[in-house]
Formats: sequence, structure tokens, C-alpha cells
Amino acid sequence: MYLLYRLRELGLHVRVFEAGTGVGGTWYWNRYPGARFDSESYSYGYSFSQELLDEWDWTEHFASQPEIERYLNYVADKFDLRPDIRFSSRVDSAAYDEDNHCWTVVLGDGSRHRSRFMITALGPLSAPTMPRFEGVQDFEGQSFHTGLWPKQSIDFEGKRVAVIGTGASGIQAIQEVAKAAGHLTVFQRRPNWCTPLHNRRIEKEEMDRIRAGYPELFQRCRETAACFVHTVDPRGTFEVTDEERNAFWEELYAGPGFGIWQGNFRDMLVDREANRLISDFVADKIRERVNDPRIAEMLIPKDHGFGTRRVPQETHYYEVYNQPNVKLVSMLEAPVERITASGLETSEADYEFDIIIYATGFDAVTGSFDRIDITGVDGRKLKESWRSGPTTFVGVMVDGFPNMFMVMGPHAALGNNPRSIEYNVEWVRDLIGYMTGRELTVADARPEAVAQWNDFVRQKAEGLLSNEIDSWMTGVNMNVAGKQTRRLVRYSGTAPEYRERCDEIAAEGYRELSFT
Ligand SMILES: Cc1cc2nc3c(=O)[nH]c(=O)nc-3n(C[C@H](O)[C@H](O)[C@H](O)COP(=O)(O)OP(=O)(O)OC[C@H]3O[C@@H](n4cnc5c(N)ncnc54)[C@H](O)[C@@H]3O)c2cc1C
Repeated sequence: MYLLYRLRELGLHVRVFEAGTGVGGTWYWNRYPGARFDSESYSYGYSFSQELLDEWDWTEHFASQPEIERYLNYVADKFDLRPDIRFSSRVDSAAYDEDNHCWTVVLGDGSRHRSRFMITALGPLSAPTMPRFEGVQDFEGQSFHTGLWPKQSIDFEGKRVAVIGTGASGIQAIQEVAKAAGHLTVFQRRPNWCTPLHNRRIEKEEMDRIRAGYPELFQRCRETAACFVHTVDPRGTFEVTDEERNAFWEELYAGPGFGIWQGNFRDMLVDREANRLISDFVADKIRERVNDPRIAEMLIPKDHGFGTRRVPQETHYYEVYNQPNVKLVSMLEAPVERITASGLETSEADYEFDIIIYATGFDAVTGSFDRIDITGVDGRKLKESWRSGPTTFVGVMVDGFPNMFMVMGPHAALGNNPRSIEYNVEWVRDLIGYMTGRELTVADARPEAVAQWNDFVRQKAEGLLSNEIDSWMTGVNMNVAGKQTRRLVRYSGTAPEYRERCDEIAAEGYRELSFT
């Protein structure tokens, strides 16, 4: 939506193809119970329009999906974006026409559309994946993937419900479903480290104070490593006494949002011993909150340290396992063998359910690209080029795919994403403005610039504990063929460093690109 807004300003004719029937992206598809921000609402909203900032009131520090979807609809209406968006239009393929220097995009209905530039805004988490179980189609009850949740409300009252998967979406859904379900069975492959969200309502007066502080807030987001409001503590874990360290962690655990992840000691994600200590601290919290010590141990990750994966934020998640209507099953101890007409079978037992919820996540970052047949020069396929990991120039371009620009593609600075999206969009807008102002029709990244950028991305990943862990951030998804080994799908340097590089490139006239 922001791309459309900015590109229109250049006087370009812009057409957006959107698979959904409405705006919202992530917040259109993920309407499962409990879906909400883990970024502070006001730090996530667009920052580009003072009018919008003045008009929109957030009602919770971490807004829920309905409010976020309302917000994005409000933005679409305010800036009259809908006339240039074609809904229910999934792009199946896109090919670069070398003779005419343009892209041909083909939609699911077979229609073909030509354009000088093709910009992808496919989303890092928009290609849902199902587990590779036999018999998924055989189930006769209701079943849903969290990322493809239907618009009508689902009644869990008194029902026998299964949730498969305990990633960020599963955790949010479990908390809500456990309130209504007659019985809930959670199937967990590997636990994640979760910490309290501490969400609160925002009353009018507080919203007015937040609004008055927007300039400082966005400035802070520009300075932090991952664009969140939380600032890393400059101290090292071992530079303080045991008492000081514990008091600091207690404060972070009692504080809102990602403070404990993004505002912790500076060495937490690079020093093994520091990471072990914070992991022990959070493990003890889990033990305190879960009554049955055996269940508590099942919920404590043993294969990765705290913070080395995105930390799911929870509200009474651990207490759910103290409820008599909730059971936790380890899929490592008792693998699911098949989905049946009435439920599922594990290696140890048969279960019957009315509803199965697949909270099995996404083929992250490159998945939505892989689902489109993208062909560049000389018949080169993007999927093939990226088989052993994506290669990009500043996460925006790929050599051999001229005039294709990516927003939130691989190697972009992830974190509190809209801050990076706004930056990416403005960078692409400036590049297109540079080209149209000089009557340049084609831009391609020079292969040596791509190689250099990939070295930089590799260098930035070195020494980070998170890059020694299988997760969607290291390109691993056990449910997707060919994605069992780690790949450098994300840029793990800081966002300010990323922007500095990109600013330099623009200021020096895009020497890393070849133009015709
Ligand atoms: C449950 C959930 C919670 C999240 N919470 C946060 C958070 O709190 N903070 C944060 O910073 N990030 C969060 N994220 C990440 C979130 O994806 C980004 O913040 C943001 O939505 C990215 O915006 P986007 O426009 O790049 O992608 P998206 O919002 O994913 O939009 C991409 C759009 O592209 C469309 N599309 C994809 N492929 C095609 C195709 N072939 N043809 C046509 N259309 C296509 C999709 O339908 C979708 O509408 C969350 C993600 C999920 C799944």
C-alpha cells in the first residue's frame, strides 16, 4: 500500500495484484483467535503521514487482528488506494521480456499484464505450510491453518480441539482456544521460549501522550538494531553483580513486549555463557508457572538458547497447561502417523477431534517467491538461482532480473517490519525516480555487487548464536522439500547499518547497478 502511494507520486501508472479479497496482507489472512502484534501498535503503524498519525487512535499497546485490519482499511480509504488494487488476483508467473525491456505478469485467471517495473511485496510470512502428514484430506471435522483463517467466527464451545504447532501463532491461538474448548490437545514438536506480552488498553489520554511523542518514538526506532522501541543495554552480562543481573531480568520479564529480547544485555546473543544464564532464568519462570514438573520440562527448549529465535509473546500461555481440559503431547516422543476421518493417530494413541488447527507456520522469506514462476534474462529461473540460498543486492535486486525490485524480500532488515518497509519503499521510489528523470529504462545489479553484498550478509551472520539454530530465520522448514539445511535468508546486521549502506549507494549514483 505504501509503495502504491509513493509510486503514484512519481506520476507512474501503478497496478497492485493482491491474492486476498481485501487489504491487510498478514492482518487479512491471520484472523485466528488471539492473533495480535508483538510490536507496540504505535511503533508498527505507518509514520509517513502526520494526518494519519493525528487521526488514528490505537486502543491497545499490542493491538489484535481486528483492530489492525480496521487500521489498514482506514489507510486504504484515506489515501484512496483501492482503485489501483486488483483483488482476488494471484500472480502465478512473471517473465522478463528482453526485447521490450518489460515484465509480463500472468495471473491465476490467465490474464497477462505488462509493465516496465515489477516490484514484489509478497511478505516474509505469507506462504502457509502444512505438516507432511498422511490423510490431511480425510478429516471429516473442521480444520484450519492459522494463516488461512476463515472470516466467519468458529465456535469452540465444548468442542474437542487439536492445535498442531507451538510457534508464535500456535501460542496465541492456544491461549484463546483453551478458554472455550471442551478439551484441547496441543501437539508440540519443539517448544519455544515465550515471555509475557503484558498488553494493556490505551485510554484517550495515554494515546494523546503517545501521539505527542511520535517524533521521538520513530527516531528511537531508526536507531535501534531491529527498529523496535526497545534499546539494547550497553552492559555485558558479566559486568554486573548477580543481584543486579537478576533484578534487571525480573524487571524485563515484568515489562511489556520484546524488552527482554531486544533490550537485554548486549552480549546475550553472542556469548554462550551469557545466553545460558538468561535461558536458565526464563526456564525457572516456566517451572514456577506450570504446576506439573514433567509438563514444565516439556515446555522448556533444550535445543536452542533464549532469543536465538523470534520470541513468542504470551498472555497466561504457560498457565493453560494447568487447566484440566488441556493436554500437551510431544510429537518427538509420539510422532503423528496420520490424520484420520475422526482425528489423528500418533505412534502411541488415537485421538478424536471436532476441530484441528494447523499452526504450522510459513515457508518463510523465499516461500512466496518460490510459488511464482519468475523468469529473468536468458530464461533464468529465480527459484533455481536461489536453490542453495537467496542472493541479492541490498535485499532489493537480483542480478539477471532487471527492473525487478523487492520490498521485504530476503536480506532485508527484519524486526519491527513497517519501519524497514517504509525505508525500502522510499529507496525503490528514489531509484525509479532517478531512472525516469534520466530516461533510463533498465536497471540490473552488477554480479560483483551482488557477490559483495552476499559476503557482507555472511559476515554479519558470523558469531551470532541465532545462526547456529534451525528456524525460519535461517531458512529451515522441515515441512518444505529442499529446506532442511540452513541458508542465509536474512540480513542479521543492524537496520541503521543497512540504511547507511543503501543511502551511500544512492548518494553515489547507484554505481553497483548497470543502466541502459
Ligand atoms: C501472525 C503474524 C504476526 C506478525 N506480527 C508482527 C509484528 O507484531 N510486528 C512485525 O513487525 N511483524 C509481524 N509479522 C510479520 C508481518 O508479516 C509483517 O509485519 C508485515 O505484514 C509485512 O508486510 P508485507 O506487506 O511485506 O507482507 P504481507 O503483509 O505478508 O503482505 C503480502 C501480501 O502479498 C500477497 N501475495 C503473496 N503472494 C502473492 C501472489 N503470488 N499473488 C498475489 N498476491 C500475493 C498476500 O496475499 C499478502 O496480502 C507478523 C506475521 C504474522 C504471520
